[in-house]
Amino acid sequence: MLAFIQAGGAGTRLKEITGDLPKPMVPICGKPILLHQVESLIRSDVKDIVMVVSASSTVVQDFFGDGSKFGAKISYIVENQPLGTAGALYYLAKQRDEDFFLVMGDLMLDVDWQRFYAFHKKHRSFLTAFAHPNSHPYDSDLLVSSKEGKLLRVLSKKEPRDDYYNNLTNAGLYVVSKEILETFQGMDEPIKMDFEKDLVAPSIGAVPVYCYRSTEYVKDCGTPDRYYSVSRDLEKGVVASKNLSHPQKCIFLDRDGTINKFGNFVTKAEMLELLPWAGKAIAKINTSGYLAIVVTNQPVIARGETDFAELSQIHMKMETLLGQEGAYIDDLFYCPHHPDKGFPGERPEYKIVCECRKPKIGMLLEAKNKYNIDFAASWMIGDTCQDVQTGINAGCKTILLTGGDPHPYAKYGDAKPDYVCENLEQAVNYILSQEGE
Ligand SMILES: [Zn+2]
Repeated sequence: MLAFIQAGGAGTRLKEITGDLPKPMVPICGKPILLHQVESLIRSDVKDIVMVVSASSTVVQDFFGDGSKFGAKISYIVENQPLGTAGALYYLAKQRDEDFFLVMGDLMLDVDWQRFYAFHKKHRSFLTAFAHPNSHPYDSDLLVSSKEGKLLRVLSKKEPRDDYYNNLTNAGLYVVSKEILETFQGMDEPIKMDFEKDLVAPSIGAVPVYCYRSTEYVKDCGTPDRYYSVSRDLEKGVVASKNLSHPQKCIFLDRDGTINKFGNFVTKAEMLELLPWAGKAIAKINTSGYLAIVVTNQPVIARGETDFAELSQIHMKMETLLGQEGAYIDDLFYCPHHPDKGFPGERPEYKIVCECRKPKIGMLLEAKNKYNIDFAASWMIGDTCQDVQTGINAGCKTILLTGGDPHPYAKYGDAKPDYVCENLEQAVNYILSQEGE
């Protein structure tokens, strides 16, 4: 498999650290970012690499040569004038006719590339963007996708945003099907093009474009603050450990009474109110080695008290409010079912005995499949004994929060949590203290 890396680009905001080095050659813990990328690709058996470099410097070619000393085959496209993030595909289209990864060369990353490509093939996608939530969605371009991951729209950070949104952003990595290269084959000469604006945006709706949601480490290190934070993550082993070829540890979170005030059932977005410590607690999970995944029973769907569109609004509000506090959830799974039939206004198709309603572990199993989660290294936090029973059923450690009302599910009252505390912040602090983090 082929990787096409945009390795030009000056690190203007990193000058105090790097002098005149191109940003991809900036060393992190002694190795250029670009070498971290090449090593990650090689670990996934991607050894055929084309790098786009600027004619103004040969520092990349001098370092990598033909790639043989690193175990890869590396060739170069030299741009005499900057062609943007996609213009050099004109040259690639003359040489190649195969699917490839497109990688922005200034990102610190460690990714299971074969897993990424398998998603692309499974969905018969033409363009697949690597997508993840981040800690500053309010000033990021956002991806709007279907439940299956089909990209529906890109919300530019430049447009006014007065609505709630899902926290999903574009990381700067793609799988590109060879058909996309046909765009360039009719051109007489290369022109400056932006990959997102000139290729991804016009493709939405015309050909299948997907978002691959992943919790793997992909971060820009283009400012001194980010540079030092990425260096620390690399030293601590966080970058490598988040590669989904390794089992992941996760903190599963109940929603109502754990992240937001329970009160009565939340059936409208305006009813959702975060608990005051939720943002801070989840932001702590985000900078630890744990994933933060919400698993919530929402029988309000089966009972006809709300619908999927409104539930989606409720979750967008939660993600928007968390994002304002620099926190995000890695994913969310909900069960819309309820077993007891015979209520006015109910939706019979959801009045079933399912495999996802807690304390069954269907939602946790789905998360495990998607993110390679190791239950034994993971935790379940919730405010009811039903949550505790869920964690026990999966083989996770469990924490019961007493700040809410743990009693409505008295039938699981015998479930014994590993730890009991008042609220989510205390629970997260406890887990991280167990880790020595
Ligand atoms: Zn269910």
